[in-house]
Amino acid sequence: MAKIFCIANQKGGVGKTTTSVNLAAGLAKIGQRVLLVDLDPQGNATMGSGVDKRALQLSVYDVLLESASVQEAAVPSEACGYHVLGANRELAGAEVELVELERREKRLKAALVEGDGAYDFVLIDCPPSLSMLTLNGLCSAHGVIVPMQCEYFALEGLTDLVNTIKQVHANLNPDLQIIGLLRVMFDPRITLQSQVSEQLKDHFGDKVFDTVIPRNVRLAEAPSYGLPGVVFDASAKGSQAFVEFAREMVGRIKRM
Ligand code: ADP
Ligand code: MG
Repeated sequence: MAKIFCIANQKGGVGKTTTSVNLAAGLAKIGQRVLLVDLDPQGNATMGSGVDKRALQLSVYDVLLESASVQEAAVPSEACGYHVLGANRELAGAEVELVELERREKRLKAALVEGDGAYDFVLIDCPPSLSMLTLNGLCSAHGVIVPMQCEYFALEGLTDLVNTIKQVHANLNPDLQIIGLLRVMFDPRITLQSQVSEQLKDHFGDKVFDTVIPRNVRLAEAPSYGLPGVVFDASAKGSQAFVEFAREMVGRIKRM
């Protein structure tokens, strides 16, 4: 059975998509079979995996509306070594269309259960909101990976996310837990970041991943080439950190 993880944080620009595509590529690199699900209508994870969102025959939208299976809609990213269930602007409409439907928050879960066995890991890149799309992600997952920058306001935003996860855990998905907080875009020269990093460890203990993702320009450049940093420039510090994080995740699921 695949282990399913949401990459979530209701703030935009915190590194969710960068984490999703690079963790997917890192896991693929160490021999894991990975499906990356893009749940953001912006389609950045799709494009960042070398899949043209404008040319998708089928997407996660069709899966949510039950007009396609995961197997039918997922496409291989040859360059990246994993499969992509892509998204584009059409997905924004699903938000409204789902409201009318039954089991609206469990559509993605049902589709993933049906296609189970093909993957070791399913990673879900969530949009920057606590919407019906994110809820579908949270209902599908065994755990949540929360990328965050070590800034003062990051801690405030975390309270809302933690409360949402608690509610989903209590009402909709008893499997759900926070797997960990991933410190991203980290710059040790900035004193505040080191302080917040220490506060996180004091407060959340081993829920803070050991791996730290540094701020690294190669990770930011890679999407314009339609590649995760891990594939675009494997030698970059940021890429090496994501492969290390993939190893840490493989270790963690053995203990789950
Ligand atoms: P989100 O999906 O949460 O909106 P993104 O992953 O798109 O966030 O990241 C926001 C911006 O920050 C992007 O331009 C991305 O390239 C850049 N970025 C993310 N992680 C890093 C990093 N470790 N170092 C440098 N730039 C980064
Ligand atoms: Mg994103």
